[in-house]
Amino acid sequence: MDTLHQAIEILRRYSIRPSHQRVAVMEYLIEHPSHNTADEVYDGLLSEMPTLSKTTIYNTLHLFKNSGAVSALHIGVEPMRFDSIIEPHAHFYCNVCHRIHDVDMDKELWQQVRHIVPDKAEELQILFRGVCAECS
Ligand SMILES: [Zn+2]
Ligand SMILES: [Zn+2]
Repeated sequence: MDTLHQAIEILRRYSIRPSHQRVAVMEYLIEHPSHNTADEVYDGLLSEMPTLSKTTIYNTLHLFKNSGAVSALHIGVEPMRFDSIIEPHAHFYCNVCHRIHDVDMDKELWQQVRHIVPDKAEELQILFRGVCAECS
């Protein structure tokens, strides 16, 4: 399945009306699975959609987040980042290059976390911080 149809499918699954702009934003997140900020999505889509506004991007990403179609990652004072991978995984944040790496989580470890976190937790993040191999 190409990313366009993947994007439409995800939106439908989360009962989000697949407007042209929403599909484009979801497609961007699938093609750039690098924990994008709203600004990065905006910059990335601007050339193909010159009428796009930052507010639209911001609202669309928050709609996705609130519907569960993307996960959100909030690191300290950094702007929120959006992740098209919604399966449980942890993150490693490099204090030097500010890159975020996905870290696979043992299912059992995740279950242990789940035991002490209510089902309706707004955010569930496991974050490691430090200096990545490239920067150290
Ligand atoms: Zn680094
Ligand atoms: Zn991630």
